[in-house]
Amino acid sequence: MSSPTITRFAPSPTGYIHVGNLRTALMNYLIARKAGGTFILRIDDTDPERSKEEYVDGIKEDLTWLGLHWDRVERQSERLEKYNAAADKLREMGRFYEAFETPTELDLKRKKQLNMGKPPVYDRAALNLSDAEKDALRAERGDGVWRFKLDNQRTEWVDGILGDISIDSSSVSDPVLIRGDGQILYTLASVVDDTEMGVTHVVRGSDHVTNTATQIQIMEALGGENVPSFAHHSLLTGPQGEALSKRLGTLALRDLRAQGVHPFALLSLMARLGSSDPVELRTDMESLIEGFDIGHFGSAPTKFDVKDLFPLTGRYLQTLSAADVADKIESLGVPADKAAQFWAVTHENIETLHDLDGWWAMFRDGAEPVIEDADRAFVAQAMAMLPEMPFDENTWSQWTAAVKEATGRKGRGLFRPLRLALTGQESGPEMAAVMPLLQTVRARQG
Ligand code: GLU
Repeated sequence: MSSPTITRFAPSPTGYIHVGNLRTALMNYLIARKAGGTFILRIDDTDPERSKEEYVDGIKEDLTWLGLHWDRVERQSERLEKYNAAADKLREMGRFYEAFETPTELDLKRKKQLNMGKPPVYDRAALNLSDAEKDALRAERGDGVWRFKLDNQRTEWVDGILGDISIDSSSVSDPVLIRGDGQILYTLASVVDDTEMGVTHVVRGSDHVTNTATQIQIMEALGGENVPSFAHHSLLTGPQGEALSKRLGTLALRDLRAQGVHPFALLSLMARLGSSDPVELRTDMESLIEGFDIGHFGSAPTKFDVKDLFPLTGRYLQTLSAADVADKIESLGVPADKAAQFWAVTHENIETLHDLDGWWAMFRDGAEPVIEDADRAFVAQAMAMLPEMPFDENTWSQWTAAVKEATGRKGRGLFRPLRLALTGQESGPEMAAVMPLLQTVRARQG
């Protein structure tokens, strides 16, 4: 029997989730759910200075809003002993060494190598230090950093998205896994967690490909029984292919939520964007899970346009009833007996629920009338014939019939100026349905 599928989403709580890391979260979630497996939320908080509790809460809030429920939470800050035990093991095997170069010294080394046309890879000078030299350096500079000694071979894996990958580890510096102040770095913590938690599939951004080569080597050094399958999704770009990394901060899920984007618009888009499957609005998680296949994703950068989320949200809203959005309608101050009618008239004419604000303001306060010069006398005559409020669903037909009779106008010449005068708009919902909602007619005054 194959082992049960276990995936994890591993954000560092140094910021809120944005569309870029949502993709990572969603892919890992969908893989776990499709296989009936486990989805772990792993908080990568080994950096005490940059990790903030408010972001941990924020990440959970955003995932909950999306409906991406996790089976359990793991926190790296609570697992430091395990990482230190793994570090000891690496030391015992001679795969871990202390190095004392200052950042300036490292920088100088890199520059020299580049000048000589060589790749700027750490030269392992620290491997040649005697114990006495290390003691002297430690006394002078404090504890050193700990580097993992890479095996200078190619590291290979079949990537779930990128296909065959082969990384020449001699072009990669021995990674620092523990800082001079004892802080465990992500790479070591991640390797220990993925192994001990039995993670079977890791999906993350393609900026992690080199990390993966390093992590596979560390996993193998530590025993290597549970090396997961890796898949690296392409990075998101803006609609013109421009880098999105700097703008991701403005594409935080909470900002999109505040703009009225619906979770299913985001989920429907992000679960398919960059794959050979079409983006279609899904209104339930089951069908998103059902249709998901990581193998359908390509390696080319994925274009993302935030604007696409609005029509998708609009289409989702069209599937709702007035009862589904009762709270929102009530909050606008729409009288209870008009709520269903208000929704019937507006729901196909909005992209987000925020658009209802404008619609209700228009019904309540009346629209700024639009009256073309040629229609001025006609509109004045029609307004004089408009019955007193409240209007009902017959008001429009009775009134326009009477106006037609009195003025001889018909068709577009009759209806268009009246709609423009009452709503300020060329087109929109059926006027018969609009009339009973109108609380004010500003065109009546002038
Ligand atoms: N905390 C890491 C990050 O956010 C996790 C990467 C991984 O999935 O291993 O980049």
